[in-house]
Amino acid sequence: MTRVFNFSAGPAVLPESVLRQAADEMLDWHGSGMSVMEMSHRGKEFIAIHAEAEALLRELLAIPANYKVLFLQGGAIGQNAIVPMNLLRGRSSIDFVHTGEWSKKSIGEAKKYAKVNIAASAEASGFSCVPPRETWQLDPDAAYVHICSNETIGGVEYHFTPDTGGVPLVADMSSDILSRPVDVARYGLIYCGAQKNIGPAGLTIVIVRDDLIGQAMPITPSAFDYQQQADNDSMLNTPPTYAIYIAGLVFHWIKARGGLAAMAAHNQAKAAILYDYLDESRLYSNPVARADRSLMNVPFKLKDPALDEAFLKGAQSRGLLQLKGHRSVGGMRASIYNAMPVEGVQALVAYMKEFEAKHG
Ligand SMILES: *Cc1c(COP(=O)(O)O)cnc(C)c1O
Repeated sequence: MTRVFNFSAGPAVLPESVLRQAADEMLDWHGSGMSVMEMSHRGKEFIAIHAEAEALLRELLAIPANYKVLFLQGGAIGQNAIVPMNLLRGRSSIDFVHTGEWSKKSIGEAKKYAKVNIAASAEASGFSCVPPRETWQLDPDAAYVHICSNETIGGVEYHFTPDTGGVPLVADMSSDILSRPVDVARYGLIYCGAQKNIGPAGLTIVIVRDDLIGQAMPITPSAFDYQQQADNDSMLNTPPTYAIYIAGLVFHWIKARGGLAAMAAHNQAKAAILYDYLDESRLYSNPVARADRSLMNVPFKLKDPALDEAFLKGAQSRGLLQLKGHRSVGGMRASIYNAMPVEGVQALVAYMKEFEAKHG
């Protein structure tokens, strides 16, 4: 068996030890005689798996007791509609900070439900930075302020938590959740799809302050009404059981590696190997402002796009996969989530140097 270094933006690499444990438990979970996939979501075995996953997530992120943790479906794109349905609470407008492709999707969806105010935009810079907080034009009557903490395509990440006064802050953390400690109390709501840093696609996690729920728009589907899901321990409908089980194993893996502070140190060290090389290279470049660079997704371009194909082919032959950039921006992108070992980044940089020596 050969495992490659998988730089996919998502679904993405998972820790090998987690996959091995899941394989070992595939046919018979803890003597139950069943696979987790075959269990009733209301049986005692799965209820224990679900409760443990939630407890571990609460512990890792130090989630305060007045926050609900919901395990839902529909992805982050689903949340782009579900958040306004639940959090407008009779208000008419939402403030957005526009930092790239994922903000843009969130804005487009929210417009179906509310008036959208672009409080700040990085468009003039080609979405290569986070607009400084001092430049944001916030509306004190907005239902909430929405940010994307890590733009997975553009490789722009917040390295600060913006102060939004009394207006709740909502963050799409799909691609940097659990990569570093977060002060959850500074957010009204955090959402993410699981398939970047947590587990299989199909699980969507929502962490929401409990005073913000219970006033969903009447048209909100019951399965997406946070209050109804909170009242039913996220089991108003059948939750994505297997994905929750894998997420629990990943939470264990993070805890065993020292928790989120250790993850952050590990991620900084990994990303530095790649950015330091990009900055000294004459063949490759990254357009993002240094202070706002993503530690999870590192886009880069070759000086001559005619070299892209040869670069990707050579990478593939060395077991370095999924480096092609998003179709909307071209170039390359290396996603180096929690589960990407430092050896993967070292192998990538070694290959990039070799390629530069030949083609630079
Ligand atoms: C991947 C991603 C999404 C899309 O998630 P889906 O699960 O496909 O709905 C949304 N936002 C960000 C920041 C992402 O990285």
